[in-house]
Amino acid sequence: MSEHSYMLNKLIELAELSKHINMSLDEIDIVNYAVTELPKIMGLSITSVFLYDKRRKSVYMAASNDETIDSERMSRIRFELGEGLVGKVGETLEPIIIEDIEQDGNFSGKSNPKYGDRSCRILPLISGGKLVGVITMTSGLDNHEAAYDDTVLLSLFADHIAIAVNNAQLLALARDEADRDGLTKLYTHRYFHTHLDREMARARRYKTKLSLILMDVDKFKSVNDNLGHTVGDEVLVGISSIILANMRIGVDIPCRYGGDEFTAILPETSLDSAFDAAERIRRMVDLLEFKSIDESMEVSLSIGICEYKEHLSKTEFINLADAAMYQSKTEGRNRTTRAPVPLREEDGKAAK
Ligand code: GH3
Ligand code: MG
Repeated sequence: MSEHSYMLNKLIELAELSKHINMSLDEIDIVNYAVTELPKIMGLSITSVFLYDKRRKSVYMAASNDETIDSERMSRIRFELGEGLVGKVGETLEPIIIEDIEQDGNFSGKSNPKYGDRSCRILPLISGGKLVGVITMTSGLDNHEAAYDDTVLLSLFADHIAIAVNNAQLLALARDEADRDGLTKLYTHRYFHTHLDREMARARRYKTKLSLILMDVDKFKSVNDNLGHTVGDEVLVGISSIILANMRIGVDIPCRYGGDEFTAILPETSLDSAFDAAERIRRMVDLLEFKSIDESMEVSLSIGICEYKEHLSKTEFINLADAAMYQSKTEGRNRTTRAPVPLREEDGKAAK
C-alpha cells in the first residue's frame, strides 16, 4: 500500500472513531473508547489517557488498555506538571516522541517485552489552547504501521479527544450548576429527592447504612428583622459553608431544603456517626456571630437525625428526621436529636 492510500484509509477509520467519541457526553466513556479503539486502528500497543486536574496541577490516569493496571492502581497514577515525561508534556504542551525506548535515557519504564514495545509517543490533549490531558502511546518497531510516520494522524486524533473531553466537562459543569441553589451553592430540593431515592435503593441492595440530617436555623426571622435581609442571606451562606466543610467530598450530599432549612444525605453512615457530624456542624455554627452596623447576633441550628431502615418509605424517613428536628426546637433549640425508628410489625412481634 502506498503511503498516500495508507494515510487515507487511516483517516477514514479515525473519522469514524471521532464521530463516536463526539456523540458521548461522558469524559470517562470518551477516554475508555479512545484507548480501546485507537490501538486497533493505529497498530499501537499500550495507550493511556491522563486527564488534567486543575485544582491539584497534575494529570491522573483516567483510562488505559494496559490490562496489568487495575482500577485501584490506576487511581494512584498521577504526575505533577513537570514531573516525568507525562508531566513534562502537560507543562510544556509540546509532544515528546521517543523512537527507541531502549536507547533513551529519559524513559523511566523499561520497554514491555510482552508487547515488543520500542517507540513511545506522548502528546498533549489541548482544547481552546488549554490543557485537557495527555495521551501516551507505545508501539513496536516491527509492525507494518510504523513503516509510515503516524504522528500527524495521532496528533489530529488527540485534538478530537481533547475537544470531546472538554465538551463533556463543560456539560457536567453546567449540569452541576443547575443542580445547585443560587445563594448557597448547596444542592437543590429537587436534587435531594432524586438522590435520596437512589441512596435508599443502594442501602437496601448492599445492606449498607444510610443517615439523614435535617437542620433549621433558630429564630431566623429575627435575624432578618434585626440585621436586615442581606445579612440574613450572609448567615445562610456562612452556615452552608460550614455544612460543606463537614461533608465527605463525593460521598455526602448537602442540600438546601428550602428557606432556612438544610439537609445532608450521608451514605454508609450510622446514626452515631451522623450524630458526630451534626454536632460538629452545630458547634461551629454556634460560634458564628453576625453583625449589622449597630447590632450583632449569634445564630444556632436545631437538628434532627435519622438512620434509614428498610421498611421506611422516603416520606416516613424524612418525617422522622423532621420530627426529631422539631423536638430539638421544642426542647430549647441549638441541639441535635436522634429520631427513634419504629420497628417493623414483624420485628416487633419477633422481639416479644
Ligand atoms: P424557628 O426557630 O422556629 O425555626 O424560627 P424561625 O424564625 O427560623 O422560623 P422559620 O424557620 O419558619 O423562618 C424561616 C424564615 O427564613 C422565614 C423567611 O423569611 C426566611 N427566609 C427564607 N429564605 C430566605 C432567604 O433566602 N434569605 C433570607 N434572608 N431569609 C430567608
Ligand atoms: Mg428556622
